[in-house]
Amino acid sequence: MIKETIDLFNRELPSETKLVAVSKFHPVEDILEAYSAGQRIFAESRPQELSAKVKALEAYEDLEFHFIGHLQTNKLKLVLPYVSLVHSVDSLRLLDAIQKWAADNGRRVNVLLELHVASESTKQGFTPDEAMEVMTGHPQDKWPDVRICGLMAMGSFTDDEAVVEGEFSRVESLFNEIRKKCPELSDTFRELSMGMSEDWRIALRHGSTMVRIGSSIFGPCH
Ligand SMILES: *Cc1c(COP(=O)(O)O)cnc(C)c1O
Repeated sequence: MIKETIDLFNRELPSETKLVAVSKFHPVEDILEAYSAGQRIFAESRPQELSAKVKALEAYEDLEFHFIGHLQTNKLKLVLPYVSLVHSVDSLRLLDAIQKWAADNGRRVNVLLELHVASESTKQGFTPDEAMEVMTGHPQDKWPDVRICGLMAMGSFTDDEAVVEGEFSRVESLFNEIRKKCPELSDTFRELSMGMSEDWRIALRHGSTMVRIGSSIFGPCH
């Protein structure tokens, strides 16, 4: 099943859109099954679980992890050494803490700014105005060891496609507007992480470059 679904996504996704396989709550064996189907990018949302899986999968050198969960500033050392991208930077405080960690450790950290566009009040993130302010305020001077590679957003949890369509459309406009206003960043600010198992087709219509797919590939979380 895992292999078939990965094959299906590889056929359906345009070549410029990356498949991020969300392996949270699923065992290492499932990751290996996806790996043998050619999948290389996986995402986790909990620091401890990420560390354990990284350790178990050390031998697979071309396997890449992303982090997509809420990241507390006291957990950075469990996450940042092991991931090639953090999708879920949801506050200036976290951005500052990542900069400090990167400088202290001589590393460059790739991140996306998580936007708050869904109607649920529980979802974290920057408002579109705040994200615009960050990107037009010389981020490369304020956070020199952090590379802001784009935006991440989650649609509302609803069956009403029009609602999600509207949200993704607003994110796409903001993304394009930032790229237009900050041409000096256009080489690095190029990723739009949008779309999950239920709404990735809508996200593709709005320029998503990364879809984060969990349950469609691995089954429901236990
Ligand atoms: C769990 C999760 C996903 C995957 O969701 P599915 O609906 O299982 O595809 C994507 N993004 C984030 C941020 C998640 O926490």
